[in-house]
Amino acid sequence: MPNDTDVIVVGAGLAGLVAATEIADSGKRVLLLDQEGEQNLGGQAFWSFGGLFLVNSPEQRRLGIKDSYELALQDWYGAAGFDRDEDHWPKRWADAYVAFAATDKREWLRAMGHRIFPVVGWAERGGYDATGHGNSVPRFHVSWGTGPGIVEPFERRAREAAARGRITFKFRHRVDSLIVTNGVVEGVAGAILAPTSEPRGVSSSRDVVGEFAFRAQAVIVASGGIGGNHDLVRQNWPKRLGTPPKHMVTGVPAHVDGRMIGITEAAGARLINRHRMWHYVEGLHNWNPIWPGHGIRILPGPSSMWFDATGKRLPSPLYPGYDTLGQLEHIMATGYDYSWFVLTQSIIKKEFALSGSEQNPDLTSKSWRMTIKRATNKGAPAPVEAFKAKGADFIVRTNLPDLVEAMNVMVGEKLLKLEDIKRQIEARDREIDNPYVKDTQVMGIHNARRYIGDRLIRTAKPHRILDPHHGPLIAVKLNILTRKTLGGFETDLDARVFGNNGAIMPGLYAVGEAAGFGGGGMHGYRSLEGTFLGGCLFSGRNAGRAAAKAVA
Ligand SMILES: Cc1cc2nc3c(=O)[nH]c(=O)nc-3n(C[C@H](O)[C@H](O)[C@H](O)COP(=O)(O)OP(=O)(O)OC[C@H]3O[C@@H](n4cnc5c(N)ncnc54)[C@H](O)[C@@H]3O)c2cc1C
Repeated sequence: MPNDTDVIVVGAGLAGLVAATEIADSGKRVLLLDQEGEQNLGGQAFWSFGGLFLVNSPEQRRLGIKDSYELALQDWYGAAGFDRDEDHWPKRWADAYVAFAATDKREWLRAMGHRIFPVVGWAERGGYDATGHGNSVPRFHVSWGTGPGIVEPFERRAREAAARGRITFKFRHRVDSLIVTNGVVEGVAGAILAPTSEPRGVSSSRDVVGEFAFRAQAVIVASGGIGGNHDLVRQNWPKRLGTPPKHMVTGVPAHVDGRMIGITEAAGARLINRHRMWHYVEGLHNWNPIWPGHGIRILPGPSSMWFDATGKRLPSPLYPGYDTLGQLEHIMATGYDYSWFVLTQSIIKKEFALSGSEQNPDLTSKSWRMTIKRATNKGAPAPVEAFKAKGADFIVRTNLPDLVEAMNVMVGEKLLKLEDIKRQIEARDREIDNPYVKDTQVMGIHNARRYIGDRLIRTAKPHRILDPHHGPLIAVKLNILTRKTLGGFETDLDARVFGNNGAIMPGLYAVGEAAGFGGGGMHGYRSLEGTFLGGCLFSGRNAGRAAAKAVA
């Protein structure tokens, strides 16, 4: 049978776009298929905050941050906790990816017009020793224009390639099977879905109006993870994190359905580390949802007090923004699937950011005039204030008794005792007057404020939570939010997929979230953040270049 094209890419998210554009640039032809309509081009990356892990960047150096490949690799291994034979390729991807982040990642993007917001964020601060989890220094570089800012250059390149006849887009083409002959992947087959006019991110119909089969020398699976499919998330939930949460909010659109992962596995591809996932513990019900169960993650600064459902303060170092997986493990061990932040207006104003391009109109629209208000504004950013006013998880009161009573009313159970919460907050508040203290969270606040970026826009001046001048008091009920899939198809550094027999499956490649961002899980157990978009860029680039060379 003649081929329809040189390479087929399944999924027009960031990883698929990068792979397709690299192939097109080498002069080869690509069919780029997606089950969604054209309005969804870019997949999850469009909705993302656009945060990128970079090492020893000019932005870091301008802020006085001393970073290096060695320090970043030490942090990566501390976070990953690789612990099994299957981690062979994930480790090789980790080494290569950290090198990419320390060398040509920034310049490669810059040459395509991508720019970075100058204040570098400090995600996953860790709080253990030097070899433990966490970023030793700030490394979270926000794309100017957030998610759309990172999609833009690749969408532009893809459209130019389409105009040259190198890329053919096939939207509403849902792949249902791989065509495999004698172990060689030769193409894909599936259903043509009815056209949709639903806006970007809104679930679209699965009505079938036709079928298709396309053949090529190589197929690249770039179909994303499983975060939109709670059944799959619960199925893969690891024992170490307790029983799966009863209630979760959804941090990704419905197209992140994990279906193509099952299809590729059924064709013989080897899926590893499926129990490794990256879900957040600071999820909010979106008062203005776009996709089903739409949850928004708070990107918290370090000062909110964190209590479990029964009112016990989370132990050191489980402070906001320190250790997502540690927090998830701890919260699930309480027997409840939610927890609480208690904070002040002064803290929310400076420390609450919400992840997602639509929650950051200042950065997303590339408006300096609006963005500058992050440092100068009297209130929190408008999207945060909107959640405070309209969000189902927020309680605002002028005094602690009223706050605690409302928290109990919200969950319909008197789990929280006023005297208990009051004792813990007052104890913490007594630690505020000296810059050298015993309370490790307060120590962390002082530490954070030595970094100019945090002092400017991320960490409130230390103050007593119960000081009315910093009020009103705010409680936020935090839900588990599904997001990223850390495991995936085992791949070599060219993104070629291994089969269940341990040999490369000829003709098959996997990239982005479907490949655990490289190798089948280059993050190991935990992420240092900003590493997912970067993992799509790196794996998409490697696969595109390798596949272009491999096809005749
Ligand atoms: C709100 C939000 C904020 C985020 N913020 C950050 C951040 O700041 N930094 C960071 O590093 N990461 C962030 N991420 C994560 C990051 O955006 C994703 O991990 C990444 O974009 C995944 O890209 P992908 O190309 O692998 O998959 P996707 O973007 O999921 O794209 C996969 C595509 O494949 C299509 N598809 C699936 N199955 C089929 C099939 N059978 N047939 C045809 N098409 C199919 C889907 O429709 C989809 O378009 C964020 C994510 C979200 C949602």
